[in-house]
Amino acid sequence: MMNVLVVYWHPEPRSFNGAMFNKAIEVLEAEGHQVKTSNLHQMKFDPVSGRHNFTTTNDAVFFKQQLEEMHATEHQGFSPEIEAEIQKLEWCDLVIFQFPLWWFGMPAMLKGWVDRVFAMGRTYGGGRFYQDGVYQGKKAMLSVTMGGPEEAYIKDGWNGDLNGILRPIHRGILEFNGFSVLAPHAVFGPARKTEQERITDLEIYAQRLRSIFSEPAIHIGQY
Ligand SMILES: Cc1cc2nc3c(=O)[nH]c(=O)nc-3n(C[C@H](O)[C@H](O)[C@H](O)COP(=O)(O)OP(=O)(O)OC[C@H]3O[C@@H](n4cnc5c(N)ncnc54)[C@H](O)[C@@H]3O)c2cc1C
Repeated sequence: MMNVLVVYWHPEPRSFNGAMFNKAIEVLEAEGHQVKTSNLHQMKFDPVSGRHNFTTTNDAVFFKQQLEEMHATEHQGFSPEIEAEIQKLEWCDLVIFQFPLWWFGMPAMLKGWVDRVFAMGRTYGGGRFYQDGVYQGKKAMLSVTMGGPEEAYIKDGWNGDLNGILRPIHRGILEFNGFSVLAPHAVFGPARKTEQERITDLEIYAQRLRSIFSEPAIHIGQY
């Protein structure tokens, strides 16, 4: 039995992303795993970083986030909402991020979660990066939907290779903090599909999740 955190954002609970979020919880729990969630829209998570990330103050005159994070790490000074999210990351064996691709990246609320929750001293730093990272041994997977079709997301396709688009998240956030990255789970153009095709897509996702812990990591690397 493993611990899985699903971090999810979509502004519409009845969206296809909402369906994938619900499917992940249902399947992982049925497999006997423990599941915790961060449903950022429902939580009304504040994505804007600032002094409210902390209950402690390192420098009251000049705000420098990473120095405040290091100070907060030493003095248990993260605000309760940030501390709760960090503790979920510390608890999990696998974190899944469920989101629609917006402008080739994470939507703002999810990006803001990353900006505030991955904190110097606590989740990285002091020589603890990449393979020596704080979260080494944990896995991470992006479950992402696109508006565009699959042929737009291949090398020499209209938008280019999806792995290149996801590289800033895979390498700059996940591997940086020590996670091993699983292949992204991509659904292309759910709004252009038939109801039956979407139901099939959800079943393909369910099938993958049933054996997710036997999957090897992909290596993003420095290229
Ligand atoms: C600001 C912005 C930036 C964007 N940038 C990009 C970009 O860079 N690249 C790109 O490719 N796209 C982009 N898009 C498009 C976006 O990625 C897609 O609209 C999104 O991924 C589609 O997923 P959804 O969950 O919103 O789909 P929805 O439109 O919510 O869902 C599709 C259909 O699935 C149905 N559905 C829901 N639940 C189920 C279920 N259980 N079973 C069967 N059907 C179900 C819904 O009723 C709906 O008809 C952007 C969109 C915005 C708003």
